[in-house]
Amino acid sequence: MNENINSFLSKRPLLISGPCSAETKEQVLETARRLATIGKVDMLRAGIWKPRTKPGMFEGVGTEGLKWLQEAKAETGLPLTVEVATGRHVQEALEHGIDVLWIGARTTVNPFSVQEVADALRGVNIPVLVKNPINPDLELWSGAIERLQKAGQQNIGMIHRGFSSYGNTDYRNAPMWHLPIEMKRRFPGMLLICDPSHICGNRAMLQEVAQVSIDLDFGGLMLESHIDPDNAWSDAKQQVTPERLNEIFESLTWRKENTSAAGFVNALSSLREQINQVDDELLTLIGRRMKLADKIGEYKRDNNITILQTNRWNEILDRAFVKGAQLGLSKEFIVRYFDAVHMESINHQNKVMND
Ligand code: PEP
Ligand code: MN
Repeated sequence: MNENINSFLSKRPLLISGPCSAETKEQVLETARRLATIGKVDMLRAGIWKPRTKPGMFEGVGTEGLKWLQEAKAETGLPLTVEVATGRHVQEALEHGIDVLWIGARTTVNPFSVQEVADALRGVNIPVLVKNPINPDLELWSGAIERLQKAGQQNIGMIHRGFSSYGNTDYRNAPMWHLPIEMKRRFPGMLLICDPSHICGNRAMLQEVAQVSIDLDFGGLMLESHIDPDNAWSDAKQQVTPERLNEIFESLTWRKENTSAAGFVNALSSLREQINQVDDELLTLIGRRMKLADKIGEYKRDNNITILQTNRWNEILDRAFVKGAQLGLSKEFIVRYFDAVHMESINHQNKVMND
């Protein structure tokens, strides 16, 4: 097996690019050449087997495409990564000298498939990147990583590609940044990269989303690129040319997680101390709020009144929107915060009424 196995994932930032799908030999080779010319890309990606929502859509060129990738690597020196979803995909990818595998969002949701891939990899040492599942379920994402670890894989990384939701949003897949942040906490030191292409679903927001991920200390990016994006056979709207990709890379500000500069460290620790104090005060106040809720619960119990009164709940939210806007707090935050506080109040009152 490859002796450089660790080096594939150790570069920071790690930049992976290439087409959503391998389409033709010329397209793969031309994309690889132009990406290699940029000189910043560490790995070439291409979908060989494409999990498409509807039958009849382009479902990938299959094994033949692996040969084109091998040629691209021979010519440019770029290591290769492809998506695998079955034991057969793993076998074929290994036979064709693919350097890194990734598990797609539609596979991470399915424990049978993940287990099949993990089993096919037993005894093989190859880095595997695990995309988040399409639904916002961290246990599935963690579970997929644990299945690979249990099968003996040591070189595992994570790709954040956003989460599917119903209805129109600005994103194709909502980033829900708190979820990858939680995964970083669960798997300290494990590589986590961002895939702005599948989060955005369009070209306009790629740079902005990539920058957010960098500011959150992600270890790199996977971005789709195509020599003729508008005519791509899959994900046409979100792909960019290798040259545009270079412009996006150039415009990003890479930051480091830490510095030992004394002025910065002192300023930061003073501000963090203040934040700790404010957090303590907030918790004390919330505790007081719950004591008041308990009292209301007693009155409601004694007068046989329901806990939830919709008018009152609307009144609380309306007040908070106005106050929140004055303080620069988003409506989204107000709703989330009051949902949590209100739920805790209801639980308190439930206890009072039913204990
Ligand atoms: C892809 O990377 O082209 C892909 C299919 O992504 P995802 O699994 O994130 O949908
Ligand atoms: Mn894609």
